[in-house]
Amino acid sequence: MATLKPAKVRTVACPSCGALVEWVPENRYRPFCSARCKGVDFGAWASEQYRVEATDEPGPDDPSE
Ligand SMILES: [Zn+2]
Repeated sequence: MATLKPAKVRTVACPSCGALVEWVPENRYRPFCSARCKGVDFGAWASEQYRVEATDEPGPDDPSE
């Protein structure tokens, strides 16, 4: 009696857009649904870092001459 076990895939909600994501090893973007959603989250983090690093520097071309 060899019954084929149905692969029960666990699903989670994408933290970025809320879409259902299959929690499988093949999905390297989990818990996000796609690279785009993962990038959105990372982008927010990166911009936060950039803000800290950004200083009040004048542009290379100053038009007020
Ligand atoms: Zn998503």
